Amino acid sequence: MTPAERILGGRTRLSAVFGDPVEHSLSPAMHNAAYAALGLDRAYAAFHVTPARLREAIRAVPALGIVGVNLTVPHKERALRMMARLSDEARLLAAVNCVINRDGELHGDNTDARGLEADLRGYRVELNGRAAVVVGAGGAAPSAVLACIRMGAARIVICNRTVERANRLARRFARYVAGRGGGRARETIEARGLAALADRATVTSAALIVNATPMGLKTGGFAPLAYDATPADCVFYDMVYAREPTPFLAPAIALGRRALDGAGMLANQGELAFELFNGIAPPPGLMRQTLMERLGRA
Ligand code: NAP
Repeated sequence: MTPAERILGGRTRLSAVFGDPVEHSLSPAMHNAAYAALGLDRAYAAFHVTPARLREAIRAVPALGIVGVNLTVPHKERALRMMARLSDEARLLAAVNCVINRDGELHGDNTDARGLEADLRGYRVELNGRAAVVVGAGGAAPSAVLACIRMGAARIVICNRTVERANRLARRFARYVAGRGGGRARETIEARGLAALADRATVTSAALIVNATPMGLKTGGFAPLAYDATPADCVFYDMVYAREPTPFLAPAIALGRRALDGAGMLANQGELAFELFNGIAPPPGLMRQTLMERLGRA
């Protein structure tokens, strides 16, 4: 069967990503490689869905028998109210990045934190009892905060352009850790503006600094950061992924610090989504390898 016959067959079930923009998504390549390897009569498509039509597009999922949908920028937060059920994690992160069609009922889940944590653990990043800095307080930042909590960080500083958003995020997770720990939180979670990144005191004990903003992609540069004040074992993680080192990572690399981008997080999330959508795990390593080939790294 040619790929077109496989995609267009009458029995083919679809999965998809909805985003705006979506043209550059690498998810179709990852998921379709796994479908082909498993010989499943399924295909993954990218749909350009604008915010104004998100509700309509989500309503169409059960009607079209689509098995599952990944949501990307800017839909993750708005979709929360469009689900019949939510996982605890989607509720905590206040965002949905996976919509699973269970017999016509739409379940919202979020795999961002698990994808990031698995990537950090895969690279043996050690956070237990250490400090972490999360840059951003938008859709992706809560997953970075949750991953840091789960990896045992003792102090998390959230730095965001809009300080009030960082404050709200810090309060939300302070309530979460207090509730989880029976009222006594071991972790401290603080909020600051972006200017704090240039303050040596913010980063001097950081074992991890995560960029959870599109800064560098859209603005061409990253906010001033006291790179040389970070400890020698500090890991810099950019959720953005690109063929070249990003403006956030480049100065860290120049100083000899470990620098990771979000490609591994994306691959891990792809694997988690594939299993949620199809009820079967993808062949080990295949989605990651496909992604790395597309990024010119394989
Ligand atoms: P988002 O909602 O668009 O990001 C908003 C955040 O970025 C806010 O904190 C916002 O600050 C900040 N921001 C935006 N433009 C800025 C600028 N010019 N200067 C300073 N701060 C700026 O997107 P998101 O969903 O959180 O995702 C963030 C990035 O992570 C995106 O590039 C996304 O592609 C990437 N991501 C990657 C993965 C992966 O699997 N690798 C997963 C999720 C996200 P304000 O609050 O002040 O507006």
